[in-house]
Amino acid sequence: MDKLVWVISRLESHYGEVRNRPDGDIIGQLVRTILSQNTNDTNRDRAYASLCNRFPSWEDVLLARPEELAAAIRVGGLANIKSSRIIQILQTIQKQNGVLNLDSLSRLSTEEATNYLLHFNGVGLKTAYCVLLFGLGLPVFPVDTHIMRVVRRLGLIPRKISSEKAHQILNQHVPHEKMYSLHVHLIRLGRELCHPRSPQHDACPLTPVCEEYKEVHENA
Ligand code: SF4
Repeated sequence: MDKLVWVISRLESHYGEVRNRPDGDIIGQLVRTILSQNTNDTNRDRAYASLCNRFPSWEDVLLARPEELAAAIRVGGLANIKSSRIIQILQTIQKQNGVLNLDSLSRLSTEEATNYLLHFNGVGLKTAYCVLLFGLGLPVFPVDTHIMRVVRRLGLIPRKISSEKAHQILNQHVPHEKMYSLHVHLIRLGRELCHPRSPQHDACPLTPVCEEYKEVHENA
């Protein structure tokens, strides 16, 4: 995976180095990732801010009726589904831990912590890994739709594989200490340049190794 190492290094010199500052707020991360499903970051942040404003503690959220929570997070879309998922998750945490926090996750191995999060309804591998990377700074590499598109185009993974398989391949090959930086940089590249419909190849720092770029130029 020499190409992967090159991509990591090129993106760091293009965008600058970034450092992960895990906040330890596992429930907050979990709720934020539920809110981020099928919406953009701006609306996710608005929904989260509105939730925190309306309910000062997770205990308050747990006591809320689903429609009250749905009203607070409406701006993030799919409010009814998300509110019942959030309440269900909080109920499970309370039942299993006796308290509304997930500090115990930091005492588990990465695999155990991942499996714990995956047992919640609505939590897939990407969500679980986001929580562990941003909340605890664990060495995992979440693959969202932007990353999936860019790594396929680059030829870092086969074109027709599932998100689960992409997680498996990339988590095996991305160096642990670069997982945060590559995650952040690929999302930025996907949002700013490697758009789904009209990628801006000419402004992209990764053209020398990109399969998609090579194909476009060979067929031009
Ligand atoms: S060269 Fe084009 S297709 Fe390849 S990563 Fe950059 S923007 Fe995307």
